[in-house]
Amino acid sequence: MARTQIEAAREGTVTDAMERVAERENRDPEFVRAQVAEGQAVIPANANHDALDPMIIGREFATKVNANIGNSEETSDRETELEKHHTAVHYGADTVMDLGTGANLDAIRETHVEHSPVPIGTVPLYEAVKRAGSPEDVTKGLLLEVIEKQARQGVDYMTIHAGILAEHLPLTDGRKTGIVSRGGSIMASWMEAHGEQNPLFQVYDELCGIFAKYDVTFSLGDSLRPGCLADACDEAQYAELDTLGELTRRAWEHDVQVMVEGPGHVPMHRVAENVERQQAVCDGAPFYVLGPLVTDVAPGYDHITSAIGAAMAAQAGAAMLCYVTPKEHLGLPEEEDVRDGLAAYRIAAHAGDVANDRPGARDWDDALSEARYAFDWREQFRLALDPDRAREFHDQTLPGDNYKEARFCSMCGAEFCSMRIDQEARRDGEMETLDDDRDGGTDLESSPAAEVNRPPVGTHESGDLPSVDDENDYPVERADDD
Ligand code: SF4
Repeated sequence: MARTQIEAAREGTVTDAMERVAERENRDPEFVRAQVAEGQAVIPANANHDALDPMIIGREFATKVNANIGNSEETSDRETELEKHHTAVHYGADTVMDLGTGANLDAIRETHVEHSPVPIGTVPLYEAVKRAGSPEDVTKGLLLEVIEKQARQGVDYMTIHAGILAEHLPLTDGRKTGIVSRGGSIMASWMEAHGEQNPLFQVYDELCGIFAKYDVTFSLGDSLRPGCLADACDEAQYAELDTLGELTRRAWEHDVQVMVEGPGHVPMHRVAENVERQQAVCDGAPFYVLGPLVTDVAPGYDHITSAIGAAMAAQAGAAMLCYVTPKEHLGLPEEEDVRDGLAAYRIAAHAGDVANDRPGARDWDDALSEARYAFDWREQFRLALDPDRAREFHDQTLPGDNYKEARFCSMCGAEFCSMRIDQEARRDGEMETLDDDRDGGTDLESSPAAEVNRPPVGTHESGDLPSVDDENDYPVERADDD
């Protein structure tokens, strides 16, 4: 019996996971099988992860978003970590990476796997360093032991920093920000201390054996990703990418699924180049990118700087986007940061899917636009990427139930609501004359359009729309209307 999804696919078998993925993506199961067989897509699904609802990562499928969570020495209880996990999934993470470095790592990881409907990813090197006490004291035996244990626990994919080689290290000497990947800096320090090749590279075939046994998917780490625009697309980054291409093919020889991680910080005019190069060098293996941030000057807003790059990467063919929160470079994200980061990345992913004409992607936009033009506020909120945020913002100024029937919002106001004016003109066949009439402004009290849009009975006059500041004086009952 096939041990991995790729092995089954190569044998011509459509697995239950492939059937489920096809259903979720509105694709033919045979297409899913062929994509997995050719290594163009992965289904991270550890045989020991019973709670998983299988999903697929590949450039022909909907772009996915990962959220990182994890404890530190200060916060290490299972409930807190599970709460973070829940928040990430609630706000739309397709996979969750547990990057914990604190206490109780095994118990927390097992809790994640036990409860998670989405794939769990880890960076096992972090646990190995924690157990060894320092990067230099990590051994090849310890790396294999930690990785096998995490595989047995049900982790679906692991970042493995096997692509950074001793001969790459001098190439980073002229960089502005050196090696910014945590795993990369650990491996570099190990190689310098031992005068040996990267230990993960040395044991790579044994790793493939472990991954094949449990069907763990490689996420080949980009240890030399650029940490600033000045270092983007340099010799070090692309030398490591060549090694990642070789490691991809070696994993495929073992019937192991692979995706490849990418940068980082890249200016807009070179984002597509990065995706195209990875796709060529790694024979189409799915590209999993962090951002990239397209400028370095906006700490506090790096969910935006990176979502711009992520949208461009998605359009160019990246398969999964690792989210960045507003706290990037500054501190540990709180729940609201996770929410903002995931919203930014789901926008980037969806924008890429629309641009690439993924099945059903544009339907979402069209449905929301129709609800918007129909002034169907409840439907607009329901369809919104973040329904709670959309409703909250609308209700800050127009909170009452009655305003869910209104044909305007407080942005343009009742008199100047362009969609309402447009609809009136079309209904009355007066598109031409309306323009003329507006030269002198629309009379709110007497125009037919204003009549239609007057707030429903029982509320204040439209001229008394409340501001946020005087909401306590607002006479209409605030309603949690649905
Ligand atoms: S008032 Fe302006 S923003 Fe609000 S619904 Fe009308 S056109 Fe749209």
